[in-house]
Amino acid sequence: MLAQRTVLFKSSDTAAARTAAKVAATSGKEIIDLTAGEIWSDTAPSVRAGAIAAIDRNINRYTDTVGLMELRHALARKISAETAQPWSADEIAVTSGAKQALFNAAMVLLNPGDEVLIPAPYWTTFPAQIVLAGGKPIYIETRLNNFVPKVTDLAAAVTSKTKAVVVNTPNNPTGAVYDRDTLAGIAQLAIDRNVWIVFDECYGAFIHATCTHHPIVSIAPRARDRTLIVSSFSKSLALTGWRMGYLAGPHAVINAVKALQSHTTSNPNIIAQHALLHHLECGDRAFQARLQRHVANARELGLSILSALTWVPQPIAQGGFYFYLDLGELQRRAKVNGHELNADDVVTAFLMDAGVATVSGTAFGDPAGIRLSYGIELELLDKGLRRLIATLNELTFCLAKTPLSEEG
Ligand code: PLP
Repeated sequence: MLAQRTVLFKSSDTAAARTAAKVAATSGKEIIDLTAGEIWSDTAPSVRAGAIAAIDRNINRYTDTVGLMELRHALARKISAETAQPWSADEIAVTSGAKQALFNAAMVLLNPGDEVLIPAPYWTTFPAQIVLAGGKPIYIETRLNNFVPKVTDLAAAVTSKTKAVVVNTPNNPTGAVYDRDTLAGIAQLAIDRNVWIVFDECYGAFIHATCTHHPIVSIAPRARDRTLIVSSFSKSLALTGWRMGYLAGPHAVINAVKALQSHTTSNPNIIAQHALLHHLECGDRAFQARLQRHVANARELGLSILSALTWVPQPIAQGGFYFYLDLGELQRRAKVNGHELNADDVVTAFLMDAGVATVSGTAFGDPAGIRLSYGIELELLDKGLRRLIATLNELTFCLAKTPLSEEG
């Protein structure tokens, strides 16, 4: 008999979408996989060199629970530069990816029944971890505000049980980047209502259009003592498999995280820590710049192809590397014609008819959206999106061709 808590979680839907793509590919059909939450890339030379040097030096022991002190110092310098505020090593915990940083945060902040506000659509792991820690996710709809939460909506949802708000910008899955006023408003709300801010900026290295990424503590320094910054190198350096992330926040939180981590993973992988330390110390910016150019080129190519969509608006794609298709209008028109159209069915049609794997918005609490990753090779992206457009436009034609008289 398994523990009752196992009913609280299931395997991540994004992982399930990746598996479906792999299964479809075993039939011999060419599948273009747009499900990945990672960028197709080699490893940064400085990261490779740091890892190889650590192995050659026979480094193989446990490290401090929350990471090598030199690495925490290097991260403190990085965060100080990004936030224009001084940070010290004892305010930072190195974790096995941002996922562990978020899990730690949920475990050390939440009491049973505590509520956490999550703007929706949301990255699927946020609510899963909150529930595991005994908390209760409270969703705040963002679709009607270009996928940015309205501070008034957040304020209306705050109760005496509210413990934290999750702020994920640039956002997965929507690609929205929160503006300065919204962040200032959220910070003020958190101060006024005594709420923690969990600020996930994992996609902060990828900002497009005319947007700027603002760390919330630089806009609202007064909120710093109630903010936990979560980030990682999974996206910014295309290092998903190396599991290098961090949590930065008040000393007391880091101490609690240290105790928790000492009973879970002991410490993040030592070779990965040395690799990252070498990368940060040698100040190699060329690799990340190349990655950013690749993502920017992919975005431009993708948006030009997606401009051929009918009744699906151009994705906002302000940051990160996801296009989020909003099927809301298409669903409305399908309904007028007596059809139900949900994102899962469209994702199945993409996979079966177009050979393109995508992630349904239901994985993100949104049955009207579809996430496409553009972190892949340009050639594949080009082919995949063209196939996908053909399928979607055909579907549109069949299900949602609304007579002109009804469009009025
Ligand atoms: N936060 C967000 C918003 C993510 O999308 C992801 C991964 O997709 C993570 C955190 C976790 O990243 P990591 O690979 O560093 O654990």
